Amino acid sequence: MCEPFPKAQQKPRRFVLLGAPGVGKGTQAELLSAKFGACQISTGDVFRAAKSLDAGERSPAITAALEFMRKGELVPDGTVVDLVAERIGCLRCEKGFLLDGFPRTVAQAEELEKILTREQIKLDGVLSYDLPLEKVVARLSGRRTCPGCKAVFHVEARPPKVEGVCDQCGGKLYQREDDRPEAIRVRMEAYERSTSPLAEFYRKKGLLISIVAEGAPEAIFEQTLKALKPKKAKKA
Ligand code: AMP
Repeated sequence: MCEPFPKAQQKPRRFVLLGAPGVGKGTQAELLSAKFGACQISTGDVFRAAKSLDAGERSPAITAALEFMRKGELVPDGTVVDLVAERIGCLRCEKGFLLDGFPRTVAQAEELEKILTREQIKLDGVLSYDLPLEKVVARLSGRRTCPGCKAVFHVEARPPKVEGVCDQCGGKLYQREDDRPEAIRVRMEAYERSTSPLAEFYRKKGLLISIVAEGAPEAIFEQTLKALKPKKAKKA
């Protein structure tokens, strides 16, 4: 999907998606990626994919990263930044990119800025998905994922037709290790401490676009598209 040489007619769309874990950024990134053709980079997905590698195929940095992830802690900035820098082709994608789950600290945001400046790439905006903490925790603890097709369900809000079985491919649904109560608590603390200051960081740069993440994914997507529409100049 990533074509670094500009031949598309449409302007590239380049966004960072911010928000607490479980707020639905991943789903919105997927929907935006389908609409704009932009490349989606989810650092969490990259780490999860590394889990299925044999121990011998994992670098020491990735092995350590998976241990941080299992506990719900943030992976060290250096490892995450290297991982994103390795995906420079996605950042150069002619249709743009959607960064989902990165940056997650101010240090990562500063590194991203350096990479983009070096590449002469401009960020269009930072979509910040907001939801009260107790709702975020409820979403995370009820989340069930299909290991096969990656479909996501919720035990109450979006239950599968047959309990524990994926509607789409029949896979056996599982609860992510970091969606268990102890890891959720650690992730929320990491979010409050390290990630929430990013909203202010991007607000000061005039890039922040806030979206209320209540309701169904389709409704939130509508809100997102509305927020991205160019504002009409007020008549004098
Ligand atoms: P996510 O699926 O985005 O919630 O990410 C799952 C886990 O991957 C997080 O709890 C972290 O352990 C790790 N992770 C993903 N992205 C980052 C990041 N940008 N910085 C640090 N850790 C990350």
